[in-house]
Amino acid sequence: MRKAGVLVGNTLELVAAAVRAGVSTGDLNEIAAKSIRDGSGKAAFLGYRHPSGGKPFSGVLCISVNEEIVHGIPRMDRYLAEGDIVSLDCGALVDGFYGDSARTVAVGVVSESAQRLLGATQRSLDAGIEMCRSGQRLRDLSGAVESVILGEGFSVVRDFVGHGIGRRLHEDPQVPNYVMTGGASGYLFREGLVLAIEPMVNAGGWETETLSDGWTVVTKDRSLSAHFEHTVAVTSEGPQIMTLPG
Ligand code: MG
Ligand code: MG
Repeated sequence: MRKAGVLVGNTLELVAAAVRAGVSTGDLNEIAAKSIRDGSGKAAFLGYRHPSGGKPFSGVLCISVNEEIVHGIPRMDRYLAEGDIVSLDCGALVDGFYGDSARTVAVGVVSESAQRLLGATQRSLDAGIEMCRSGQRLRDLSGAVESVILGEGFSVVRDFVGHGIGRRLHEDPQVPNYVMTGGASGYLFREGLVLAIEPMVNAGGWETETLSDGWTVVTKDRSLSAHFEHTVAVTSEGPQIMTLPG
């Protein structure tokens, strides 16, 4: 899984470095397509079919701007502007295994509140990664992520969650970024488990809406949203992030 992870990490580095005002999300998608091709990988999201039907996803990356939370479709006529925040989500398949990672990047200078949202979301992911240890339980990971976000006064998206990952892009267990009242998960972590942890954090309310393109998920109140994700393995030496650039 390291191979797929490194390819995803390197691809996100390249794409993030190209983010600036005036670039289109379609341009960024092209950079990712070339990077994954050059690394002998296969783009995981391209052609992906939504479980509820509709058109397959047409991008290599999901690129979600400002109030868009996840699953934004790259377009050659969608230009980034100074002050935007842009979420880049990349998945790749290499030698039968998947990697999945995301980050939200500032376009030039962004507002102080946007900056704070990015920082909090990244820190909530770090808190989740720290919990990827043998003997730990899923609800403790969820709680660690959630408490960072709530502590900053932001809200946690509930309609979309992280996931196990391996020979398939989405495997059990689901990895919520909040503690489920009542049905708290006692799922026990063991060595060899690999999770995609991916907090999606809204500056306003947690509610979401899907646009008429069938994919793009936005905040219902149109407040800003950020998304950070890593693929992380539970090992005897503790958490190992698979999707760092290499
Ligand atoms: Mg992802
Ligand atoms: Mg994912």
